[in-house]
Amino acid sequence: LGGRIARAIQQMSNATIVDENVLNECLREITRALLQADVRFELVRDTQTNIKNAVNLDRLATGYNKRNIIQQAIFNELCKMLDTEKPSFTPKKGKTSVVMFVGLQGSGKTTTCTKYAHYYQKKGWKPALVCSDTFRAGAFDQLKQNATKAKIPFYGSYVESDPVQIAIEGVARFKEENCDLIIVDTSGRHKQEAALFEEMRQVSEATNPDLAIFVMDGSIGQAAYDQAQAFKQSVAVGAVIVTKMDGHAKGGGALSAVAATKSPLIFIGTGEHMHEFEVFNVKPFVKRLLGMGDLSDLIDRIQDVGPMDQQPYHTQPEHMQKLLEGNFTLRIMYEQYQSMLKMGPMGQCRVDAKRPGKGKPSKCRVDAKRPEKGNPSKDEMLHELDDIDPKLTESRTMRIARGSGRQVAEVIEMLDEYKRWANSWRSKMKGFLKIPKKGGMS
Ligand code: GDP
Ligand code: MG
Repeated sequence: LGGRIARAIQQMSNATIVDENVLNECLREITRALLQADVRFELVRDTQTNIKNAVNLDRLATGYNKRNIIQQAIFNELCKMLDTEKPSFTPKKGKTSVVMFVGLQGSGKTTTCTKYAHYYQKKGWKPALVCSDTFRAGAFDQLKQNATKAKIPFYGSYVESDPVQIAIEGVARFKEENCDLIIVDTSGRHKQEAALFEEMRQVSEATNPDLAIFVMDGSIGQAAYDQAQAFKQSVAVGAVIVTKMDGHAKGGGALSAVAATKSPLIFIGTGEHMHEFEVFNVKPFVKRLLGMGDLSDLIDRIQDVGPMDQQPYHTQPEHMQKLLEGNFTLRIMYEQYQSMLKMGPMGQCRVDAKRPGKGKPSKCRVDAKRPEKGNPSKDEMLHELDDIDPKLTESRTMRIARGSGRQVAEVIEMLDEYKRWANSWRSKMKGFLKIPKKGGMS
């Protein structure tokens, strides 16, 4: 999705004159991209109309930068699709909140419950999990296993078959224990059916949650709108979490779910593991879709440190300190690529989109798109360049190229790209922490 939209804008930027025809062609391409990404037709049509209305070429006096105005209109419109006027309920630390998870079976509720609890636990909260899924055999064991791993208290039953009863008991128990975030996991069915919605309604009525989160598999495509709406009709859905964004998710389903529930997307799941979970932010997300480079994602990641054994390099304390001082190393750039790649098709667009500056595509990017497992030459090269002096001598460049089985030009190209990232990072962090200006980079 992002790649196509970014390309459409790029093509428009290449046109000498931006007139009605150029705008229409750009809008057609965006429309095609959105439809192909499973965004609901009505939504796409509205978006197109809104962009056109916002731009109104005739009224733009000459001298204005029409491209900027169009890009801004597209940016605003995509943000609007994802931005709901009402922010979702956010739990308050130290005050008891009940959050209920709903969604079809297999959408990722149980996994996401634990990720959500873990996310808050890391911030010093006291979360707890209640398993009110009595429909699927093994549901309680699954939650128990996840919760135990994350050291989060849980409640459930092997004998009680009434989900409402378990929910009531579990919530009461954890309220007594002064947990500040009580999460109720519910059952799903393979299909949307009356019995499921009735059960959700009852659990919701009995536990009176502060927030109901609709969990959706990111790859379900066009079905998202109806599914989300159906849940919304039985419980007061107040937020959406989209899972499996690491797979073949095209992202459009997420837009549709937001539209159907009029509730914001708050997190995305990017893998099966506990730490594969990201806060969702509209503007950086859309910026990336449109190819406007942004590193704020990395800042988020730094602030959101995962479990020690799975921590990426840049979040380990000694490197984090360096990074916060504005030192952006090649290895961190490499990790950023890797983590973007994990995001599946959308992530691959991000790799294009995220590069700050508008240099021509580099070989480095192509490599990063195809990270063959255990590619020793690449790793070797990165090792060599881990604490690089940006003023590489010719002989050293050649040695690196030889050692990594790359062309000298590729090494140079990659370094150019690295410098763009590093500069961008440095100025970002300067604004952030007011670090003193230094000559070189790490
Ligand atoms: P539930 O039936 O809604 O409770 O769904 P589960 O939590 O049991 O998840 C169903 C399957 O999806 C499990 O195999 C999970 O490991 C997997 N899963 C959940 N979230 C993600 C995600 O973000 N990415 C990937 N790749 N798999 C996920
Ligand atoms: Mg489950």
